[in-house]
Amino acid sequence: MPGAVRGLSARLREVSGLLAGRFGRPEISVHETGPVRNLVLTILSQNTTDANRDRAYDRLVKRFPTLPALAAARPSELEEAIRVGGLARAKAKSILGALARIGEERGDYSLDFLRGMPLPEARAYLTSFPGVGVKTANILLLFSFGMPAFPVDTHVLRVTKRLGLVSGTADLGKAALSLEPHVGTGDHGPLHLNLIRLGREICRPRNPLCAECPLLAVCPEGARNMKAKGRPE
Ligand code: SF4
Repeated sequence: MPGAVRGLSARLREVSGLLAGRFGRPEISVHETGPVRNLVLTILSQNTTDANRDRAYDRLVKRFPTLPALAAARPSELEEAIRVGGLARAKAKSILGALARIGEERGDYSLDFLRGMPLPEARAYLTSFPGVGVKTANILLLFSFGMPAFPVDTHVLRVTKRLGLVSGTADLGKAALSLEPHVGTGDHGPLHLNLIRLGREICRPRNPLCAECPLLAVCPEGARNMKAKGRPE
């Protein structure tokens, strides 16, 4: 459906422009910690705040300063180190499982080989690890390798559903895969970060601040909310 495809690309471009007009265009920093460490970080970030993820990561690095040391950790020791981030048992299992497999398959703890792969193949490799879903894989591919992957977290999902850009029944993975090809070149990171910011500051889960929202003019839910309050859009 070429018409529908053009429509989604154009709407995403419009949304991105409006968000950049309000928040600016965030810079994307790539490669700060290396792909394997970013994989560990993204596993630690599941179901917790950024602050607790960072605390868990700091403790992990203090206790296991190198990747071989981390790979050799006993599950109970790792759990203890990352407890502050929540779901410690499941996260420790995911981290140790991922490192064991990377070490076994690649002979070292490196994911640099993903750099040369097409995006769908690199994503399929990462999501074959237990505990690594499309969101985690896309964060890694975008922020470690600069690939045009589009991570959808709960904020991005909520906002894009309200905007009518994804189906109301889509989950994180389906939403990411349906939006990704329609995001403009070079815009995957900035749009992802600005949608998260909008979701945190304005399009909150409850009582979204539609009257203050830069996307009100293009948002069907915003129009409904304003009508319900008896206010002009
Ligand atoms: S207009 Fe309202 S519902 Fe729509 S994106 Fe903005 S805050 Fe969310």
